[in-house]
Amino acid sequence: MNSISTKSTPSLQARKGFTGIYVHYPFCYQKCDYCDFFSEGIGEGRSNVEDLLFDSYKKEFLLKKANSQELKTAKVDTVFMGGGTPSKASPENWFRLLKFFREESDFSSDPEISIEANPEDLSLDFIQSLKEAGFNRLNIGVQTRNPRDLKFLGRYYDENKYQNLKYILQNSPIERIGIDLMYGLPDSKKEDFLEDLDYFLNFQLNHISLYSLTLEKGTSYSRNVKEKKAKPPNEEMQREILELLPSLMQKRGYTWYEVSNYCKEELFSRHNLRYWTYESYLGLGPGAHGFLDGSRYGNPRNTGTYLKHPGKPSTEETSSPREELALSLFRLFLPIHIPSFLEAYIPRKTAKKMISSLDGFAAKGYCNWDGSRFQWESTALLILDDLITELAISE
Ligand code: SF4
Repeated sequence: MNSISTKSTPSLQARKGFTGIYVHYPFCYQKCDYCDFFSEGIGEGRSNVEDLLFDSYKKEFLLKKANSQELKTAKVDTVFMGGGTPSKASPENWFRLLKFFREESDFSSDPEISIEANPEDLSLDFIQSLKEAGFNRLNIGVQTRNPRDLKFLGRYYDENKYQNLKYILQNSPIERIGIDLMYGLPDSKKEDFLEDLDYFLNFQLNHISLYSLTLEKGTSYSRNVKEKKAKPPNEEMQREILELLPSLMQKRGYTWYEVSNYCKEELFSRHNLRYWTYESYLGLGPGAHGFLDGSRYGNPRNTGTYLKHPGKPSTEETSSPREELALSLFRLFLPIHIPSFLEAYIPRKTAKKMISSLDGFAAKGYCNWDGSRFQWESTALLILDDLITELAISE
């Protein structure tokens, strides 16, 4: 693997005084077999609780704002509508919700406002409505173009809509587009995935997320594998692909900035970057998580329960900065200004132990580290989980 040192890229710094908003829309056309997000398949058309849900997002926002010092003072610089399939809800509802957020919070001058969409919902008119609603970034859950693999994943497949993707990607009124692709499906060859990837690379998209298929507890897929009704992911092929992606993507002009995420220039997903750099965010909706004023919370994974008491979390815990920072920040392959994070979040004694682990990694050639600026080398990729665990327990 090649060195990924990016000496000209400025290092990531810890930031305070900014926050983000995540909204979880829990409905999809159908529930995919491998998916462990909180989501429910409702077929074609809108949910009959959609309007109620949008009212509840507002109620939850006001409740959280009344109780959060951070939310009252921080500038909002990212908003992300995820799910589920938020493109299944009407652009008018998103427009009204975004307007409400702008009235109730202090937005930065150039916020990133993203929405996730599935191919079946996309048309140029629909994307134009999303643009008019205020979105400036669209992330499309493609996964694969292969009908056999989509069927294996239990994903909804509309042949015309998948065929139409080319036209959508070439003419979308929203210019910042990302796609998600998946690899390592048991009956798919490495070449099938690379062909799919090459197809999308030709559109010069500014963001591409490349994930391996995983077995998530509680999903139909993991039950089917356990009962030998489905084959497990092809882990050997996943390792091979994981290893070849960084140099392949760099040759095609992409910056590798997180284990599974690539972007053109510096067009990172700024909202996701906030999760990896221990920044706060408000999470709204059933199944959403949030991180405000040093505490994490999770909302109930049940739409009915959420609608009865929007804003009443089902879990709450004080965050553990050392462990969380180790587990998230060190997934990034960008240069990181380590002292800014240690000074902001970590007690001095623990910081010393983390630094000595980084010294050890540098001595083994896993990273570039000068005592201030840190960046993984691609040699760290295949043992990243072990290296991160060492950092997380360095107390
Ligand atoms: S469309 Fe996305 S969120 Fe919905 S079930 Fe499938 S993977 Fe999960």
